[in-house]
Amino acid sequence: MDDPEDVYPLLKTYEGRPAGSGRGKDPVNAPMIRHWCEAMGDANPAYAGADPVAPPTMLQAWIMDGLSGPTGRTAAYGELLALLDSAGCTAVVATDCEQEYLRPLRPGNVITFDSVIESVSPRKTTRLGTGHFVTTRTDIRADGEPAGTHRFRILKYAPAKAFAKGVREESGAARPRPVVNRDNAGFWEGVAERRLLIQRCDACAALRFPWLPGCGGCGSPEWTAVEASGAGTVFSYVVVHHPPFPAFDPPYAVALIELAEGIRMISNISGVPHDRVRIGMPVELEFVRVDGGQLLPVFRAPAPQVAR
Ligand SMILES: [Zn+2]
Repeated sequence: MDDPEDVYPLLKTYEGRPAGSGRGKDPVNAPMIRHWCEAMGDANPAYAGADPVAPPTMLQAWIMDGLSGPTGRTAAYGELLALLDSAGCTAVVATDCEQEYLRPLRPGNVITFDSVIESVSPRKTTRLGTGHFVTTRTDIRADGEPAGTHRFRILKYAPAKAFAKGVREESGAARPRPVVNRDNAGFWEGVAERRLLIQRCDACAALRFPWLPGCGGCGSPEWTAVEASGAGTVFSYVVVHHPPFPAFDPPYAVALIELAEGIRMISNISGVPHDRVRIGMPVELEFVRVDGGQLLPVFRAPAPQVAR
């Protein structure tokens, strides 16, 4: 099974087959909720006190396998991965996940789940290499009632030779594309019009970024998009040296920008070498068009003053 093109019809037959099932190792419980909230820095009072609910984004945490490895995985899912391996797609990278929440989870809920192989994509070529996207859908129940859905997508691929050898291309390497979903589509529509849009809660007027369906402060689902001025300062930054990734050219700085409006976002810094980025440095929004026409907001440091 050397040619990934030949294997696709066979891969396709795995769509709809079970990928796993089982039960959460622990019922929903307050200590795990507390640890999660501390790790995430989430002080929402709904997750604490005498009658807490679990943060919705913990959905998958309740069914994680842990260090002892997968327990409920089906033979079919193992076969699918083995087929991809035999077609040369030996490398794997998680690409994205989507969750839907149907009801709040509370301490004591017993969690059960079923996973299905939802789709296997045709062969795709990415900068990482050529392979297939595999999407699994996990339906999660609390005390037998539907509680949410967790979709998880991986790319099983044959590593591109240039990447495997660590050769970095000077130009033309495709950037990872933003994941646009119904919660953040408005942000990317703004970017396409060269506007940096942030959300303002209609109930408490708190500004927020990244885009979310509800207010983290008061819980209101009502919001209005407002345009940021584009002025900001470097709140913090890191310089990335490793790992090499074809779309980027390390070392480079990744900064947490504090906008004039008071919210923060992660961005590239342009206009200044990575070792000249400083906390507190003023920056200004600009848009860059990268390969294939994708417009991205970045922040530009002012040109250094020339001494006279
Ligand atoms: Zn609010």
